[in-house]
Amino acid sequence: MKEMQTTERYTLADLENWTAITRDINPTIRLGVFGDPVAHSLSPQIQNAGLRACEINMQYARFHIRANELRSALPFLRRLDFVGVNLTVPHKIAAFGQVDELDESAKRCGSVNTIKIKTSSCSYRPVAGEAGAAKENENRTAHSAVATGDDNKLIGFNTDGDGFLRAIRTEFSIDLRDLRVMIIGAGGGTGRAIAWQCALENCERLVLVNRTSEKANALAEQLRPFFSGARVLGPTSRLQAAGLDESAMRTQLGDIDLIVNATPLGMNQSDHSPIPARLLAPHHIVFDCVYGSSKTALIRAAEEAGARGANGLSMLLHQGALSFSTWFNREAPIEAMRAAL
Ligand code: NAP
Repeated sequence: MKEMQTTERYTLADLENWTAITRDINPTIRLGVFGDPVAHSLSPQIQNAGLRACEINMQYARFHIRANELRSALPFLRRLDFVGVNLTVPHKIAAFGQVDELDESAKRCGSVNTIKIKTSSCSYRPVAGEAGAAKENENRTAHSAVATGDDNKLIGFNTDGDGFLRAIRTEFSIDLRDLRVMIIGAGGGTGRAIAWQCALENCERLVLVNRTSEKANALAEQLRPFFSGARVLGPTSRLQAAGLDESAMRTQLGDIDLIVNATPLGMNQSDHSPIPARLLAPHHIVFDCVYGSSKTALIRAAEEAGARGANGLSMLLHQGALSFSTWFNREAPIEAMRAAL
């Protein structure tokens, strides 16, 4: 069959009619990202580059799935011979309660950004390094013969925390354990994964900021055991929750090195910075999980303050590479994936 790449966005309605909709697509789509919005996502670029580099004969596509559609969309992954998906805003926390099993990486932070489909038959797994369409089709036929898909299991993982850790190292040549970190949007799927990573790394200090303060308070209670030891000189508490308001953040920022935006603010050009620009100082390091073709208000504010800043592209790369490894049980071709960005 002639090769036909996908760059489109699919929907729940397309999943309902998948065989007909994708009849002419070759290689077949067996991976993707679910989100709303999702048009901005660069995951297809990096994942398709990874698949090509490893000669794995399948494609990764974008799916525009709204918050109230996730429960209907996930069962299609069981039936349609998918290998897995990534989840982005607003699905990570909702998916936590909708998968069949949870890996420890997702269980601890209550958030899922990667789903892998475990087939009911032990005879089939996408084979690492599998080359060529013929081999792939052979496997697909074998698989269809033994499994209807309804018994397949959705396993939830989270690669955001580890991806973030690697991104901070790459961007700023520094380890989380040496930093005092403020996470804005700590109650969301990404913020929680990052907060857990900071705790596991035993970072110097962690301040959890969230619009809905109850979520930051609850997360702080969960993470408290990690911060019981004294590491920072002086009386400042190592773990605190703070409101998303200027005076609460100002109080904390003298004892913060790294400021992380884990809210979606910045995805739209017109979005304001999640933190007032006047609070930023040259000693701050700013990491914006949001990425795009132009600078976010937060990154512009960091530059104006003389602070170092980076957007979320490196996190995208690293969390994506970890998802790839999860799906295929092999190391991701990270240089090919990086080049695609
Ligand atoms: P999410 O689960 O929906 O969480 C959103 C968080 O942001 C919540 O804490 C929410 O607070 C807060 N928030 C939402 N709108 C806000 C506003 N207008 N003002 C202040 N706070 C607001 O989303 P997510 O999946 O974690 O994603 C968050 C962002 O991170 C997205 O932009 C996503 O693209 C980005 N991200 C990037 C990467 C990467 O690889 N670069 C990876 C993961 C995520 P409440 O709790 O009060 O609702």
